[in-house]
Amino acid sequence: MNPASSHLGETVPAKTARTPTASAPTASAPTVRATTVAGRQTVLGLETSCDETAAAVVRLDAGGRAEVLASVVASQTAAHAPYGGVVPEIAARAHVESIDAIAAQAMAQAGLAYADLTGIAATAGPGLVGGVMVGLAFGKAAALARGLPLIAVNHLEGHAVSARLGADLPYPFLLLLVSGGHCQLLEVEGVGACRRLGSTIDDAAGEAFDKIAKTLGLPYPGGPALEALAEGGDAERFQLPRMLLGRKDCDFSFSGLKTAAARLAEGLRDAADRRDLAASVQAAIARQLAERSDRAMAAYATAREGRDLRFVVAGGVAANRMVRARLQATAAARGFSFTAPPLAYCTDNAAMIALAGAERLALGQSHPLDAPARPRWPLDEAAALASPTHAPGRKGAKA
Ligand code: ADP
Ligand code: MG
Repeated sequence: MNPASSHLGETVPAKTARTPTASAPTASAPTVRATTVAGRQTVLGLETSCDETAAAVVRLDAGGRAEVLASVVASQTAAHAPYGGVVPEIAARAHVESIDAIAAQAMAQAGLAYADLTGIAATAGPGLVGGVMVGLAFGKAAALARGLPLIAVNHLEGHAVSARLGADLPYPFLLLLVSGGHCQLLEVEGVGACRRLGSTIDDAAGEAFDKIAKTLGLPYPGGPALEALAEGGDAERFQLPRMLLGRKDCDFSFSGLKTAAARLAEGLRDAADRRDLAASVQAAIARQLAERSDRAMAAYATAREGRDLRFVVAGGVAANRMVRARLQATAAARGFSFTAPPLAYCTDNAAMIALAGAERLALGQSHPLDAPARPRWPLDEAAALASPTHAPGRKGAKA
């Protein structure tokens, strides 16, 4: 028996039936439990899927508005920098060493005791499985010890709801989720109800920033370093390929850009050349994100007959000022409102995990304590399995 179930009721509110996780469970998806928790939620969120150990406390009022009571992010950047990227074993060990203190710090910052919480949310994937297991195990232990419901959160769902942390943003909206590991366009109807419109067929945009930054000799993480280098550079100087231009879907591709940039990087002579190439690369990535988003906006506006025209960009790359500006202009031209999360909630954080957990809890959902850690876990699982943009591997469909 699941020890947390003594605390959970058996009523399934009608609205839970529409969420994909509730209506279309797959073999490896965490089972959704029904709970009777309703009204205001106060949730501790835990995030350990990559190289940030993070904990946050978020309060969601009965009207669906979120308030971040505490948010602590301990970055492992210094530990991975000598290797030029994230080393999974180092990441997992660093999460083990700090999760306890980071969670305690978030609770102290919020001025709350565990008895004040209504649930515990932990990232259960996708990500580096060694790290995911640390936060998820911590969350399960805390939920068991305190008799609280556990919500096993999809990290991408956290990014999907993150813009709601800083703005009064109602559902539904069109989302560009653009991070180090993902680049997707999604229709978001609500928490747990995402439909994929397009996805990258090779690299993610953040991955392209990071890899090209590396060829320019910039330190990890490359995205912010490339943005800084691009400052004052001539974005028109180098011609870079416009991938997928004219293709009628909403997919992305960055591998050709990466190859072209690597070739150009070999011929650079001085600091001005490097600055111009960085500016050209940044503009080319921003242009593709805007062009593909423009296609999605057109389709979305037609399907919605001009209603609910909200465009949201989230994920680490949403921190890039040129990317934001290009997308904002595209949204304005299409008659969409534009929302991006506050900068602190663009890159990995636990406030977005706590919010996704709180929103699920408010819908009456939680997960049993045997919820698995999933290295791969697409948001729109049905679309990912039916038409994979990456061959599904041993670990399942990617995106
Ligand atoms: P993931 O969850 O996939 O690990 P994050 O949401 O944490 O990714 O985002 C990290 C990614 O965002 C990295 O690829 C990083 O280079 C990129 N990034 C962060 N800030 C910027 C920026 N200012 N410009 C471009 N890319 C950025
Ligand atoms: Mg992330």
